[in-house]
Amino acid sequence: MNIDEARIKITDLRAEITKLSEAYYTKDAPLVEDNVYDQLYRQLEELEAKFPELVTKDSPTQKVGGKVLSEFSKVSHEIPMLSMGDVFSLEELEDFDRRLQKNVGREFEYNVELKIDGLALSLIYENGELVQGSTRGDGVIGEDVTNNIMTINDIPKKLSEPISLEVRGECYMPKSSFKNLNEQREIEGQTVFANPRNAAAGSLRQLDSSITKSRNLSTFIYTLINAEDYGVTTQKQAIEFMKKLGFHTNPSSETISNINQIEDYIEKYQDQRNDLEYGIDGIVLKVNDLATQAELGNTVKVPRWEIAYKFPPEQSETIVRDIEWTMGRTGVLTPTAVMDPVQLAGTTVSRATLHNVEMIRDKDVRIGDTVLLHKAGDIIPEVSQVVLKKRPDNLPEVAVPTNCPYCDSKLVHLEDEVALRCINPMCPAQIKEGLTHFASRNAMNIDGLGPRIIEQLFEKQMIKDVAGLYRLTADGLSQLEGFKEKSINNLLTAIDNSRSNSLEKLLYGLGIRHVGAKAAKLLAEEFNSMDNLMDASQESIANINTIGETIADSVTTYFENQEVHDLIQELKDASVNMDYLGGSEEVVSNPYFTDKTVVITGTLENYKRQELADQLEKMGAKVTNSVTKKTDYLIAGEKAGSKLDKANSLNVTILDETTLEGYLSSTQDAE
Ligand code: NAD
Repeated sequence: MNIDEARIKITDLRAEITKLSEAYYTKDAPLVEDNVYDQLYRQLEELEAKFPELVTKDSPTQKVGGKVLSEFSKVSHEIPMLSMGDVFSLEELEDFDRRLQKNVGREFEYNVELKIDGLALSLIYENGELVQGSTRGDGVIGEDVTNNIMTINDIPKKLSEPISLEVRGECYMPKSSFKNLNEQREIEGQTVFANPRNAAAGSLRQLDSSITKSRNLSTFIYTLINAEDYGVTTQKQAIEFMKKLGFHTNPSSETISNINQIEDYIEKYQDQRNDLEYGIDGIVLKVNDLATQAELGNTVKVPRWEIAYKFPPEQSETIVRDIEWTMGRTGVLTPTAVMDPVQLAGTTVSRATLHNVEMIRDKDVRIGDTVLLHKAGDIIPEVSQVVLKKRPDNLPEVAVPTNCPYCDSKLVHLEDEVALRCINPMCPAQIKEGLTHFASRNAMNIDGLGPRIIEQLFEKQMIKDVAGLYRLTADGLSQLEGFKEKSINNLLTAIDNSRSNSLEKLLYGLGIRHVGAKAAKLLAEEFNSMDNLMDASQESIANINTIGETIADSVTTYFENQEVHDLIQELKDASVNMDYLGGSEEVVSNPYFTDKTVVITGTLENYKRQELADQLEKMGAKVTNSVTKKTDYLIAGEKAGSKLDKANSLNVTILDETTLEGYLSSTQDAE
């Protein structure tokens, strides 16, 4: 390639990289996978190395990615927040080490850490009090997100010592919160976040700090600015010092004296990566001694004393056999690719959500295509791309339904939503989903009323809405398949018990858009009765701490509807309680245990069986005694006997105590 050709190529690459960076850093919505971006960036770096005369100050290789959103106040970073060099193979890592050995000219150690997949954060304390939090921005100017970081639980608001300092670290979204958030957004027809990193950035860069609070963010702090002022001389000591002050530091860092030891570390965490509650995209190698770091200094963009080794993306190939369209309770129709089962990052995968029509078109997925799958943020199977060279001839594009597959009404896109919606309130698929939600544990908790029974009740025209449940009789139920006296009595008792639930359970069960279990509780506490809430002004609802305009708008719009008034009247006539009874337990949902059937067996070291059962039930699990096909998890302690064998034979997921602990700690307030 001559210089003129290089100039053209470089211009193209810079334009493409700038476009991708803008989507990634500013909008928190990447257009391509990281490895695609990384390859383009590499090409640009290599061309600029070959033709240094073409390097310009505004090249993406010369500046830290990211722009400050104008909505935020700006913060200048006294010491710039830099990016980090990266390598993709062990050979490149060894080259990096050789270069450093030569530059330093004496023996030195490294501190190796996990590379947390989040966004960089700076925290400033004065006399032990947290006074400012900001994002990296363009490295020199960041966004002031102080109000938002105040809502993050693991960031200490007061240090254990009254000192002034600046620390930096990574703000991330735990995988379980990411999964929950995306499920919720999918139901509500909002665009989903591509991965936990973008979800964390989108959640931190919010003007309304109650949104940040609801997103359950966490941090790992790894940098102490001006560490020498505190008598700290190595990175390892800095981490220990910050831990003592009350910061959440990652426990996996290790000091190594020889680059050969790094292979074991990489292997260990590449294997464990899927089991961690947070995303990592590689490891970071840092010179441990801070004076040596200072000697080596920085380039305009990255420190010379650290490097990231990025894990290769895990991908698997399979064939798409069908695309299913499933209906959510708010009318959103979601396409799912059904594929030949394949092993991917530790689990067997046969389904992957395609989110919406736009994604089907963007990726051009067709039934019969061979596709590459990856796990977004290490958890959610997604189609990365179609392997076009394996596409059979004349494969037709996916036919996008124009009418609802369940009620045949015309499908629409609301406002600027990408989601395809059925807006027929009488759509049977939506009503069935709504009934399942009404019966779920955090809602009216009608034990035994699952989707299969609802399907039958619906088909036999025994119910058409939630009020119909309260008119069911023993005679009617005896027509259902497999329903005998005992099951009839159990279901009728469960329905009867639900009449006396406190108001918040009913409010949540009605499935008002944006009203999750927690908002329902706040509304019930504030207004005390259904009538008061129905009469409440939008303003008085929005004034409730953490409720905000969106929910207030949704609630008032819901109650403007005459059909809703009729439904509430029918429920009142059926003696369903409409008052807040107070004192009910804090609603907690847990991505692993809500609405799951769990059996506990064997001896657990840290849990008493009954206490654990109570805790799981509070999270919405059903704890039973025997393992059956319906069991979701067997929690197995020491000396687990026949239940463990049975669970194994039925392919029930088994949780040991360590995994249990991890799952339990994923508790978050239900949204
Ligand atoms: P980076 O994210 O690769 O690395 C630097 C960052 O790592 C630091 O700012 C810090 O926030 C973080 N980090 C995590 N753990 C750390 C630890 N233990 N110690 C120190 N730092 C730690 O660099 P970057 O400049 O923020 O972003 C570049 C990367 O972003 C690219 O490699 C690419 O993967 C991704 N990207 C993707 C797209 C896309 O379109 N998909 C676009 C732009 C950037």
